[in-house]
Amino acid sequence: MRLKEYILTRKNNTVLEQLVGDSKALDRALAGEELSYNDGIELMNYDNLHLLGAVADITRKKLVGNTVTFAASYYMNYTNVCAASCQMCAFYRKEGADDAYTLTPQEIEQRVRIAKQLGATEVHIVGGFHPKLPLEYYENMMRTIKKSHPELNIKALTAAEIYYLSKLTKNSTKEILSRLKDAGLDSMPGGGAELFHPDIRGKIVRGKCTGQQWLDVIEEAHNMNIKSNVTMLYGHIEKPEHIVDHLIKIRELQKKTHGLITLIPLKFSLDNTELEQDHLVNHECSSVYDLRIIALSRLMLANVLNNISVYWVAYGKKLAQVALSNGGSDLVGTAFSEEIYKAAGKSTSSSVEELATMVHEIGRVPAQRNTHFKILKKF
Ligand code: SF4
Repeated sequence: MRLKEYILTRKNNTVLEQLVGDSKALDRALAGEELSYNDGIELMNYDNLHLLGAVADITRKKLVGNTVTFAASYYMNYTNVCAASCQMCAFYRKEGADDAYTLTPQEIEQRVRIAKQLGATEVHIVGGFHPKLPLEYYENMMRTIKKSHPELNIKALTAAEIYYLSKLTKNSTKEILSRLKDAGLDSMPGGGAELFHPDIRGKIVRGKCTGQQWLDVIEEAHNMNIKSNVTMLYGHIEKPEHIVDHLIKIRELQKKTHGLITLIPLKFSLDNTELEQDHLVNHECSSVYDLRIIALSRLMLANVLNNISVYWVAYGKKLAQVALSNGGSDLVGTAFSEEIYKAAGKSTSSSVEELATMVHEIGRVPAQRNTHFKILKKF
């Protein structure tokens, strides 16, 4: 069914009826067809955001119904020491800086124990590229957590960290992944993806793997049955083609491996970054742009990935609710702690109950999930 027909046959939906549009890309999305690169560009420039959001919302409903999921996650950054110096990052410190830190495996285990008492079912562990931590540090960290908390899902180290570790220790990325899996690694976060396109990546990261290297590492992980998330950093100096390119690369990867769990679009957080200090970005992107990104993510990935996560930490709870009505279906996460966003001045804590309330307020069904989107509890 084509867009106009679809809209005009919907009863009691006056908003949609007033917004009858003529977008070929939205037509194709409603017909369940895979969107092309040109469709993506069309939608990045499409002026009827309400209609774009409505079609993304219809697509979300077809794929996952009215449930909004969230996990009880404990976010932990084991070190802020980093050999890289990305222009988009407010988190990293150089070794020896007054506020540089590195947690011991025992300190990590203590924090994890508290998180578990709060109800966490997964630990999300990422950090800087520490130039002196050996592979054994990471193995030890995972073994220590697994020994005391075998039921917790260890979602640790981005593909970018794995790539760095392979260079640092002169082991292949496959060897690193294999050893970490043996030590307890269950899944991987989606960080470090940023934007894959080399034209933009070179201007926002310094000292981090290329987009293709990130994709190669994550493909290896998927082939070893280590599933992962994927992120997309937007709202800085990118153009529509960089967003569409990123989404298509994610789609191609997922067709090959089926190893991606969810896409988490990440809004660029400006404060204390080099991009801000060099006046390359003077303000954070608008809420309208946030909603466009969520909607486009849903539509471009509709045939390969069911889950589009809304990172409420960056949006605030009110905008997160609107994003859930524009294609989003999952809230990330219950961030008991999240030093990276704190470094850029964002509030990061919530509880499962607060997230459930957010979902109830928009008339959807809240459900706590595990790392792999198995429903654990409905509210
Ligand atoms: S984004 Fe990651 S790799 Fe880049 S400087 Fe920050 S901590 Fe280091």
